[in-house]
Amino acid sequence: MMATGLFYSEECLRHDTGGHPESRGRLQAILSRLRSASGLPRLLFMDAPAAEMDWVGAVHASGHLERVAGLARQGGGWLDGDTYVSTGSLSAALHAAGGAVAAAEQLLRGDLDNAFVAVRPPGHHATPYHGMGFCLFNNVAVAVRRSQALGLARRVAVVDFDVHHGNGTQDLFYEDPSVLVFSCHQSPLYPGTGHYNEAGRGAGQGYTVNVPMPPGCGDEAYDHVMREVLAPALRWFRPDVLFVSAGYDSHWADPLAGMKVSVPGFGRLAERIASLAGELCRGRMVWVLEGGYDPRALAAAVEASVRVLSGGERDVVDPHSPAPVALGVEAVEGVVAAVRGVHGL
Ligand code: ZN
Repeated sequence: MMATGLFYSEECLRHDTGGHPESRGRLQAILSRLRSASGLPRLLFMDAPAAEMDWVGAVHASGHLERVAGLARQGGGWLDGDTYVSTGSLSAALHAAGGAVAAAEQLLRGDLDNAFVAVRPPGHHATPYHGMGFCLFNNVAVAVRRSQALGLARRVAVVDFDVHHGNGTQDLFYEDPSVLVFSCHQSPLYPGTGHYNEAGRGAGQGYTVNVPMPPGCGDEAYDHVMREVLAPALRWFRPDVLFVSAGYDSHWADPLAGMKVSVPGFGRLAERIASLAGELCRGRMVWVLEGGYDPRALAAAVEASVRVLSGGERDVVDPHSPAPVALGVEAVEGVVAAVRGVHGL
């Protein structure tokens, strides 16, 4: 029986951010919820091992690695205004990247159907030269490059539905036609990039797809973007595997953003992505946790995703209450038309 791998390491709890919203409580909420969930017979709990430094070095400049390692050695410090490094952070970040690598490798060797990597610190804001936005190493990018270096995948698509623009992932692959980077995100919001005119450069022109969405969008607007932009972009690109930067901070109760996605909405999002993976790349998907700062909503939304990945029973109820009224399809029709125009979709 094939399975969904759930990759996790206790080491990821050692990234100590004090009272910061990106806290160890996020992962603890996810793990305790998944461990007690019923009806998930095909979910295998697996260890997220540490990445080798040179795998991370294939993505990040040595100066950045040395800064993170130096701050950890010195007992901690701020990398930027909102990104802290504690004594345990280097180990946590290596296990976060290593979990993504291990998941990708086992999936691409045929040992798993798909995988969810429940790790922290998150990664999608980490650029070649800097950690920022709570991110130290770009976990997804490290796993993409490692998969390509091992010859396990050539064409890789990254689907980033975190509420923030995945600027680090964009920067890392901006000139690379072997990696399609799709990001839908709230705009305006941190980090301020991700306009639909940012579409790649040089040989990578056309391989970056950005969908900036107004605050207040809910399940229907997200589903519309998946159907009208993600689906044709992926069908055009024909990936060997999908990496999903799975951020849940577009949930309506999230303290850091203003979108109104519900927990069942995250289930639909997962069904949409899984169906495209089934059509285009034999269902091969590696989901890697990014944001999501209301721990109860986060844990329920991750469970909704994992249920889709593992073919378990579907319905997960929103732990807070039904979602408030959200902006619908009409709120994104203009931007969808603009993105499709830029990309000829
Ligand atoms: Zn985010």
